[in-house]
Amino acid sequence: MEDNSEQKSNTCKENDFTGVYEDLRKHGVCKICAYRFLCSSELKLRLDEFLENNGYEKDSTSVPKMSKENSCIICLGLFENKVLEDVVKQILKQTSRTNYDCDTYMLALVLPASCKLREQSTFVYLKSKFPALYKECPYAPRLGLKESWRFYCCSAISKTIEKNLDVNSPLMIQITFSYAGDCKDFRNISKIVKGKMNLAAALKLLDDSDFSRLYPFPMEVPDDCVHVASVDIKRDSIFFAGRYNKFSRELSQTPWILSDGERKMELSVEEIISEKLKTIMKAEDSRFSSSGREDVDVRTLGTGRPFAVELINPRISNVSFHDIRNVENKINEDGKNLISIRHLQIVDRSEMISLKQGEEHKTKDYCCVCIVKKVCDIDDLKKMLPSTPLTLLQKTPIRVLHRRTVATRPKIIHELTLEGVNVPSPQGSTVFKINLKTEAGTYIKEFVHGDFGRTQPNLSAILGDIPIDVLALDVTNVEVDWPPKINYLQESLP
Ligand SMILES: [Zn+2]
Repeated sequence: MEDNSEQKSNTCKENDFTGVYEDLRKHGVCKICAYRFLCSSELKLRLDEFLENNGYEKDSTSVPKMSKENSCIICLGLFENKVLEDVVKQILKQTSRTNYDCDTYMLALVLPASCKLREQSTFVYLKSKFPALYKECPYAPRLGLKESWRFYCCSAISKTIEKNLDVNSPLMIQITFSYAGDCKDFRNISKIVKGKMNLAAALKLLDDSDFSRLYPFPMEVPDDCVHVASVDIKRDSIFFAGRYNKFSRELSQTPWILSDGERKMELSVEEIISEKLKTIMKAEDSRFSSSGREDVDVRTLGTGRPFAVELINPRISNVSFHDIRNVENKINEDGKNLISIRHLQIVDRSEMISLKQGEEHKTKDYCCVCIVKKVCDIDDLKKMLPSTPLTLLQKTPIRVLHRRTVATRPKIIHELTLEGVNVPSPQGSTVFKINLKTEAGTYIKEFVHGDFGRTQPNLSAILGDIPIDVLALDVTNVEVDWPPKINYLQESLP
């Protein structure tokens, strides 16, 4: 019983839909668009099957003259061969130059707003002409224009660029279609659109009778079909991560360029690392980030500082473990005695969060060589040190006032020790070094000399109000366990 009734309703629907199909074709709607409006939940992209099963249009002689000469009144000729040929030509022109090495792509389409208006006009018409089929229908067509275009046209593109369509591909081809009559079509509804309202929101303000008054079906037959306004091809960024050591006290982390354009330092950590990666991966641009930063005159020793480089629109993406070791070695050769990197690897975009979280939450170790213009006993100095943890209140240092907002920030020193050094102190002064473990973002130089009292307490005050200068500062450990360590033994494997 149940089976029978279901079959019956299906048959009934199918018959009615063929009536819809004929009606739309008569009005200058192309085969694909007419098929898209057959409001069956069974509908899959099987136009050819549908036509054959229903005995329609096996050859083009039965196509009404109007639709043969003029473009479809809904899609504006989007499925015409000449449009696809133009798309293929433009894609080819770009890919032959860019030469991406990934073997998949995804298609994004930007269509003229006219298409949406014309679909809506058709839907409103069908609701009044075939109420039994469309009255209860929440929307039509069931098959979207973009989805259909991808289905019918992607094989030509795939063949041309020798890549497969894959919705998860990192390589995106965006095709923007334009239509000369778009403004004219849009004029009627533009009176309804307020401010930045988009078309979908504007359509919601109109009921069917309002809409059909503005856009009666069939809408004007287009003089010209859609055109390919642009083809943009871009690959998702690739992220490299690693750790760097900086051995120079005359090397800035990022390019140091004064406001008048004059360059202060010839090189930077960022450039030594990023330029090589950019070249090898044939990327358009790069963005360097790191877990905190050090001053020009500060070295970063120990296990180094975590960094990441985003490579924008890289042409190359297939790199092996061995390739990455080669890049790492080249960067280290170029870095000479200035920097070295290790644990270089490709990481996921989502991992960038680990880098930024590490910057804010993890501790850092420092070794700072100081001098006081007074002969002091190291053991006496040691006894004066406060117990840790010690909370500082740091007002934004004078030297960074130009780039940071003025605020008083509490910072914690978790460990603080003092010791003598092996070199003799200049006459009348004492050289010693302190080792600190501090909260990320603590200004060490300011803690030592006090920054005119802007950091409280400070070492100068703690040791009896004696002026202290910083001779040298090193970062000895950045306690961020990221990125994962590389197993270098892998390199010896074939
Ligand atoms: Zn069409």
